[in-house]
Amino acid sequence: MSRLKALKAALLKAEDAIKKALWADFHKPPFEVDVTEMTATIFELDHAIRYLKSWMKPLNKPTPLYLMGTDTHVSYFPKGPSLIIAPWNYSILLTIGPIVHATAAGCPFVVKPSENTPEASLVIKNIIESVFPPEEASVFLGGKDVATELLAQPFSHLHFTGSAAVGKIVMKAGAQNLSSVTLELGGKSPTYVDATADLKLAAESICFGKFSNSGQTCIAPDYILADRRIYKALLKELKLNISYRYGATFEDRHGDDYARIVQRPHFNRLVTALEDAKSKGATVEFGGGSDASDLFIEPTILTDVPAGATLMQEEIFGPILPVLVIDSVEEAIQQIQQLPPPLSTYVFSKSVEQSRKLSAGVRTGAVCTNTTLLQFIQPFGPFGGEGNSGIGRSHGEAGFRAFSNEQVVLRRKWGARLLNFASPPYSRTTTWFTRLLQKLS
Ligand code: NAD
Repeated sequence: MSRLKALKAALLKAEDAIKKALWADFHKPPFEVDVTEMTATIFELDHAIRYLKSWMKPLNKPTPLYLMGTDTHVSYFPKGPSLIIAPWNYSILLTIGPIVHATAAGCPFVVKPSENTPEASLVIKNIIESVFPPEEASVFLGGKDVATELLAQPFSHLHFTGSAAVGKIVMKAGAQNLSSVTLELGGKSPTYVDATADLKLAAESICFGKFSNSGQTCIAPDYILADRRIYKALLKELKLNISYRYGATFEDRHGDDYARIVQRPHFNRLVTALEDAKSKGATVEFGGGSDASDLFIEPTILTDVPAGATLMQEEIFGPILPVLVIDSVEEAIQQIQQLPPPLSTYVFSKSVEQSRKLSAGVRTGAVCTNTTLLQFIQPFGPFGGEGNSGIGRSHGEAGFRAFSNEQVVLRRKWGARLLNFASPPYSRTTTWFTRLLQKLS
C-alpha cells in the first residue's frame, strides 16, 4: 500500500516532465495527456489503494454435504518475479497500470517500456527508480533485442501489451518456463450505428474515440457500420464534428490540439494503406491529407472501402475511418464475425433490443453502447480481449488476480469421515456407499 501511495505521489510530481516528454515524442497535446494518461492512471492507482485490502482477504467457500465437517478458503499469494512489456501509445497508463497490479499483488517486477516513445520511457524509469528499491523493481530501456533477452529469463508471469504478432512471441517464450501470461492485444473494434441512434451524440463520441491520440488507441473505433437510412446524415455529423474539434481547413487541423503519428514506419504504413484503399475504389469524404515532415495525417473519413483493402483487413491504428453501409443488425453481426474477435465493439442505438442482439451475436472483450473508450476506465469491469485481441484480464481486481496465485486451504474440523468408507477392503457396501455419495453431490 505504501508503495502505491508513493507511486501516485511520484507520478503527480512528474506531471510536467511527462507532458514535455510526450510532446517531444509525438506531439501529444498536454490536455490529452491530462485526460488519457494522468487522470486514467490516477483512477487505476486510487482504485487499487481503496480496494487492495478487500482483494487480499481470503475468500471463504461453501462446503458441500459430502464434505460436512470441513471448511475451505482461498488465499492469494504473489506469483513472483514478473515481466511487464509495454507499448508506446499510452506510455504512462499502459506501463504504470500493470505496475500498480504487480505491486498490489506483491510481485517484484522488471519493466520494459517502449522504444518508440523514448522521452516518456525515460521519465517512467526515473519514476520507478524513485519509488522502488532495486530488489523490487527494475526498468530496462530498449527495443526488440532487450525484450528478447528479458523473455529468455524465468519469470513467473509475463504481462504484455502490444500487437498480436509480438504477443505470439511472448507466449512462445512463456512456454519455455511455463510462465503464465496476460496478453493485452489490439484488433479492429467495429462501431455499429443503427437507424434510431442519436447521430450528433454518435458523431461526437466516435470522433473522440477515433481521433484522440490521432487514432493510435487499441480500442479506437476502427470502422463504422452505418444503417443505410442514416448513413448520409451520419457522414454529415462526423464532418461537422471533426471541423468543430480540429478546424475547417487542412492548416487549422495541422495544429497543436492533435497528436502526430509516432514514428516514420507507422506514418508510411498508414499513407500506403490510404493509397491502397483509394486505388481499390474508396472515396475520400473528408481529409485525406498528410505532411511527412512532421508525421501529420489529418482526420480522414472514407466510404466505399472494399473488403480487400488493407484498411479493412488489418487494425488501422491511425486517424483513418472507413464508413460502410449495412441494412440490419444481423448484417452487422455477420460482417463483424468475418474478422478475428475485436477488443471492443461499439453500438449507437436507442433500441435496447438492438444492442442486446449485437452483444449476444459477437465475440468481443467489451460492448459499449452510446459512447466510446469509457469501458477502459471502468475499474470494476475486467478489461481484455479474446484470441487475437488478447488472453486474460487486467484492471482493478482482475489485474490484482492476474499477478496472484490462488491457494485452496481445506481444514477438517470434525466428522468428514464419510469418504474414509470408500477405502479397501472393497465390498458391496463400499459400492453402495459411493453411489450414495454421488447422490449427495
Ligand atoms: P508492439 O507489439 O510493436 O510493441 C509492444 C512492445 O513489444 C514494445 O515494448 C516493443 O519493444 C516490444 N517488442 C517489439 N518486438 C518484439 C519482439 N520481437 N519480441 C519481444 N518484444 C518485442 O506494439 P506497439 O506498436 O507498441 O503498440 C501497438 C499495438 O498494441 C496495437 O496493436 C494496439 O492495439 C495494441 N495495444 C493494446 C492495448 C490493450 O490494452 N489491449 C493497449 C495499447 C495497445
